[in-house]
Amino acid sequence: MSQRYVFPFGGDGVAEGKPDKNLLGGKGAGLAEMSHLGIPVPPGFTISTEVCRFYQQHDGKYPEDLAQEVEENLARVEREHGKRFGEGKDPLLVSVRSGAPVSMPGMMDTILNLGLNDEIVAQAISAGAESRFLRDCYRRLLSMYGDVVLNVPHSEFEEILEQARERQGVETDAQLSSEALVDVIAAYKAKLAEHGKPFPEDPKEQLWGAITAVFESWDNRRAREYRRLQGLSNEMGTAVNVQVMVFGNRGDDCATGVAFSRNPATGEKGIFGEYLVNAQGEDVVAGIRTPQSISPDGDSSGMTGQFGAAYETLKGVCRTLEKERRDMQDVEFTVDGGRLYMLQTRNGKRTGFAAVRIAVDMVDENLIEPAEAVARVEPEQLSQLLAPVFDLEQKQEAIARGDRVAEGLPAGPGAASGKIALSAERAAEMAVNGSVILVRAETSPEDIVGMHAAAGILTARGGMTSHAAVVARGLGKPCIVGAGALRVDEGANEIRVDDRVLREGDELSIDGSTGEVLAGRLTARESEVLQVLMEGRDETPASKAFRRLLEWADDLRRLDVRTNADTPADASVARAFGAEGIGLCRTEHMFFDEERIAWVRQAIVAENQDERKQALEHLLPMQQSDFEGIFEAMAGLPVTVRLLDPPLHEFLPKGERAIAELASQMGLEASHLADVVDRLAETNPMLGHRGCRLGLTAPDIYTMQVEAIARAAVNLTRRGIDVKPEIMVPLVGSTNEMERLRSMIEATLQRVLSEEDSGLEIPIGTMIEVPRAALVADKIAVYADFFSFGTNDLTQMTFGFSRDDVGSFLPRYIEDGILRGDPFASIDVDGVGQLVRLAVARGRESRSQIKLGVCGEHGGDPRSVEFFDSVGLDYVSCSPYRVPIARLAAARAQQD
Ligand code: PEP
Ligand code: MG
Repeated sequence: MSQRYVFPFGGDGVAEGKPDKNLLGGKGAGLAEMSHLGIPVPPGFTISTEVCRFYQQHDGKYPEDLAQEVEENLARVEREHGKRFGEGKDPLLVSVRSGAPVSMPGMMDTILNLGLNDEIVAQAISAGAESRFLRDCYRRLLSMYGDVVLNVPHSEFEEILEQARERQGVETDAQLSSEALVDVIAAYKAKLAEHGKPFPEDPKEQLWGAITAVFESWDNRRAREYRRLQGLSNEMGTAVNVQVMVFGNRGDDCATGVAFSRNPATGEKGIFGEYLVNAQGEDVVAGIRTPQSISPDGDSSGMTGQFGAAYETLKGVCRTLEKERRDMQDVEFTVDGGRLYMLQTRNGKRTGFAAVRIAVDMVDENLIEPAEAVARVEPEQLSQLLAPVFDLEQKQEAIARGDRVAEGLPAGPGAASGKIALSAERAAEMAVNGSVILVRAETSPEDIVGMHAAAGILTARGGMTSHAAVVARGLGKPCIVGAGALRVDEGANEIRVDDRVLREGDELSIDGSTGEVLAGRLTARESEVLQVLMEGRDETPASKAFRRLLEWADDLRRLDVRTNADTPADASVARAFGAEGIGLCRTEHMFFDEERIAWVRQAIVAENQDERKQALEHLLPMQQSDFEGIFEAMAGLPVTVRLLDPPLHEFLPKGERAIAELASQMGLEASHLADVVDRLAETNPMLGHRGCRLGLTAPDIYTMQVEAIARAAVNLTRRGIDVKPEIMVPLVGSTNEMERLRSMIEATLQRVLSEEDSGLEIPIGTMIEVPRAALVADKIAVYADFFSFGTNDLTQMTFGFSRDDVGSFLPRYIEDGILRGDPFASIDVDGVGQLVRLAVARGRESRSQIKLGVCGEHGGDPRSVEFFDSVGLDYVSCSPYRVPIARLAAARAQQD
């Protein structure tokens, strides 16, 4: 038997079994499935995606048998519907629509009302058909065919229609009289002739013209571009669906609409959607008339009142479809003469809120298992539930006013508004009187106070792991980085974007979930889930669903999830989110506190041992109380404290005035201090005098920190609090570094613990963040109780890309396809991943029980979490607000 290219749906002749989406496309498969289920679908047939591939490979030719198969199927449809295509008195009209295996909304073409011409319209009217309705169908066909098949711009038809409305003095097309439509039709035909593309009067020619146009539209620029951006294959091809027309535009007992089987924004159960009375589908999309909402049961203002029977059928259809497809559906329907017909069904797109709620509700309704619910929610979607949000209407109004001034990378999700502050100090000052947005060219550790004070952070430079991005995510603050159009001029107290000038103190809004920067203040609301978790508010449906989904995830995952936290407050937030310890406590941020920075500076610029000792003695109790706070917040769980990492010059004052101030405070000559600052400056500090290099060359700082950790632990233990500190050395690249630092740390621990008469055991480990460390991991493991992969630095050093200024070329690299994505956001499995694999194997070779984790930003990225699960790490550690995301990602990693 020859190959089959055409597949019927609606009525008799529909093949049994689950329809194949790859062959029939999403729309065709949905129509076939609905036919099986006895759902009212106007009859028609699907020309398979294979024909599309054939058409492309054979220079626009069709398979030999296709014409015959189309004829046979058309004849079947005619029999079933009792009307004939191309027949004068009571013509059968059809639609021709595209339908690829993967939804490509609006990318390809549709033509409605095929099968009309002057003569057929005239005959049908004289046989008693309603003239206005038929002419309305005809003018729609002419413009759609003109636009899609004959490539005459849509706007030229719109102009004609607008003139007709003006002439008749009406507002909508639905109000145009039958006579007015006669003129519109004539003008449309004249327009086509003027372009040298007369409308084909032969209905069969129309049909094939439309089929070919849909196959051609698979390859139009818009569709190709869409597939490129979505990573979809060009090979799939589209199917073409030819279907009997039913009419939503035949009078006031007709309508067209779209509906979701549950609310796609909140996930709430119940039909949610819109419809237009006396209209065709395109009117809903075109937004010329405002559709009415399909009101819930019992409210007679919506569909329930106007189309009671059709609404009941729609509810039943949605129930059946959900039961069969076990997911929320997005359907298109038409009511023709009070009767409901379904034109499409597909799994509906939804927000993070809806995704969680629907997945959990469907478990309760016995439609899916908990493991499937976990697989249904993209981890990234959870961040929506935690982030504050802008009022959508307000935001859209602002965009319409032209207030969207720039866009950057969405580094920290959430919405924030406030007055612009151009320095950290100003941000801290201004925050006393209301919310501020800290706007900087880029940020550095000394901006931390301002970042804490700000409601949101915006930088002109930097990538997804720039300082601003990492810290903002850690703090759970909305943040946009790399908004390249901004010119931040701190001196002039202003920001410029093209010709627009924004000054310090002006209101600004940032949407860190989308990367949009908007002038003016928009209203933001705190996430409901957060209010429940942090403030003890009663559970809401959204927060309950969130909690239950994550409990199921916890049952499935193998990886532990820790957090990166530097303060007791962060630690508490992370714990509320389910963190099982701290994987990285960065100690440098503690040094910037107003009370301490002077002592830190003194320790750095000290001329002699005594001076340094004096400064460190002041810092010791402060560090100790920091650790006590954090250990207490994490009682019972491990806390990995990393010894100081950044280059020392970052702590020193910049600029003459600041140097002079510090000099007088310390009783030094300003010029002398300026010399010291100069001496400590580095050309390439990220590869310079930092991490364990500091520990080895200025050991007193590390000794002070270790002592603070040990004393804090002993103190809390005495108070009956269970503490599990771990000491971590940053930036180790050679075995000797680790060996020496380990013995230094052990000596300090021994001294303090024996002084305190404590038997506490504190593991000592290292970060693996220098490529060399990964290569010699077996030797380093001899001196390390644990490894924590610092994949931020490991990525930086493996690629040779600086973390702080990749923004200058990375977007271009990604756009040009040189890199598939940002390696600082999602781990480069092929390169950096190899080093991780190697270090895991070598580390375990020499120390089989070595604990392995990751604390780079990748620990909160779902794709990277999947990789870390596959290489057998014990835990991932990420910023507090990403803990739920990592929990879900770790569970899903076990499912693949
Ligand atoms: C890392 O390098 O991955 C890391 C966690 O340390 P930091 O970001 O502080 O350099
Ligand atoms: Mg690092």
